[in-house]
Amino acid sequence: MSYARIMCVGLLGVTGHVVEVEADLSQGLPAVVLTGLPDTSLNEARDRVRAAVVNSGESWPNRRITVNLQPAALPKQGSAFDLAIAAALLTSAGELPTDALDGVVVLGELGLDGAVRAVRGVLPMVAAAARAGLTRVIVPLANAREAGVVPGVTVHAVDSLHRLVAHIRDAEALLDPPPADPAPAAAGPDLADVAGQELGRFGLEVAAAGGHHLALFGAPGAGKTMLAERLPSILPELDDEAALEVTALHSIAGVLPPDGRLVRRPPYQAPHHTASAAALVGGGSGLARPGALSLAHRGVLFLDEAAEIPSATLQALRQPLETGRVVLARARGTTEFPARVQLVMAANPCPCASPAGDQHCTCAPAVRRRYLAKLSGPLLDRIDIRLTIAPLSAAQLTTATGPATSSAQVGARVLAARAAATARWAEGGWRTNAEVPGPVLRRAPWRLPVTDTRDLRASLDRGLLSARGFDRVLRLAWSIGDLDGRERPARAEVNEAIQLRMGESHG
Ligand SMILES: [Zn+2]
Repeated sequence: MSYARIMCVGLLGVTGHVVEVEADLSQGLPAVVLTGLPDTSLNEARDRVRAAVVNSGESWPNRRITVNLQPAALPKQGSAFDLAIAAALLTSAGELPTDALDGVVVLGELGLDGAVRAVRGVLPMVAAAARAGLTRVIVPLANAREAGVVPGVTVHAVDSLHRLVAHIRDAEALLDPPPADPAPAAAGPDLADVAGQELGRFGLEVAAAGGHHLALFGAPGAGKTMLAERLPSILPELDDEAALEVTALHSIAGVLPPDGRLVRRPPYQAPHHTASAAALVGGGSGLARPGALSLAHRGVLFLDEAAEIPSATLQALRQPLETGRVVLARARGTTEFPARVQLVMAANPCPCASPAGDQHCTCAPAVRRRYLAKLSGPLLDRIDIRLTIAPLSAAQLTTATGPATSSAQVGARVLAARAAATARWAEGGWRTNAEVPGPVLRRAPWRLPVTDTRDLRASLDRGLLSARGFDRVLRLAWSIGDLDGRERPARAEVNEAIQLRMGESHG
């Protein structure tokens, strides 16, 4: 036998594709030829595999070796093919029985010493194998827990090429995946810790209920971050499909917690304002890495000090925020990652960022306007809720009575509000109020009675609100109505919505 075929999986964005690794040995000058669109790291695989085979005590076939990765048209990135290449090669050389790995998917990077190393993206790879009907996988030990997340798949783990070879030759047992960590994931920060901040808490709850983007203005120390990082704690848990998607993205980024569970809580990402555009949207050589935008998929992206973010970076965020996906230009074609996030943006009212706010601010009015102006366009225009957060006074802190409402209590209201919205908009295919187009809200049957929108129309007529702002207030009113358990928002809800829309003091 001088030919062998082993199954592996390649990733394109977040989607896995089954790849066949073929090895063929022929007469001719000893050489290794890799075909099937290999990228640079795949060429490096040739050297790793050779060293690993030799250092595992196996003999390297002194013949002409052709390794082909099928389908050829699929771009292949990363180092997860190493172990399959080594297995195919040893099988084609007659060192291993031909049928030992029939129907088995083999994943893993090889170290020069023959150790099997963890790779990024094992979860979506195993999911792709399962979709293709391949239900036995061999993965690096360090990836065994995340592989075990995929239902209906038998996972075996290896820590070295030697162990795989010994298993095939002598039926030595492979390693079992370590059991999933029984401890529940640590709970994030809770709203119960936020004293006062009535308007901020209200804005956060409405944002969660309707899926609205949120902007928080205020001096440093006013509590903007404290509010933002608690938004995930009141959002509904991810359903199975979303959880798998989010966990896959975190697997590809190599940031999955080692507990071997699906990510069930909406993720939270807070990139620093100096982060590069690549860190935000993703990229890198070899297997593309999702950026903060995709790691926040189905969760919250918090941009603090948003006015300090370079304009070019803001521009890079614009398209993904609109479409809910990131498209990365690659050497061969493009890679796509989902990036549907709820945006929370925070900014100081002016560049001097005086903690005492206006009192000690020395910035000229024109400077203050310019400071926030660059946010409109890319970001601010997409945001329904704009609030100014004032620091708590000592009096407010000391007169606070008892603990504030907890995230669990608020989360229950949010869940009920979301269910009402999803049921109402099912026909239009929208899941949250934030997704509903303005014209739909201004037409029958969803148009609100004129008595309830009197103040809203007055704000529009007086130029306090733009036409788009008018629609945003309507969306917010529906979310507030859902939280109040109303069939449709009345005048009180509409007026509260106006407050959430125009809560900013920067003009
Ligand atoms: Zn200032």
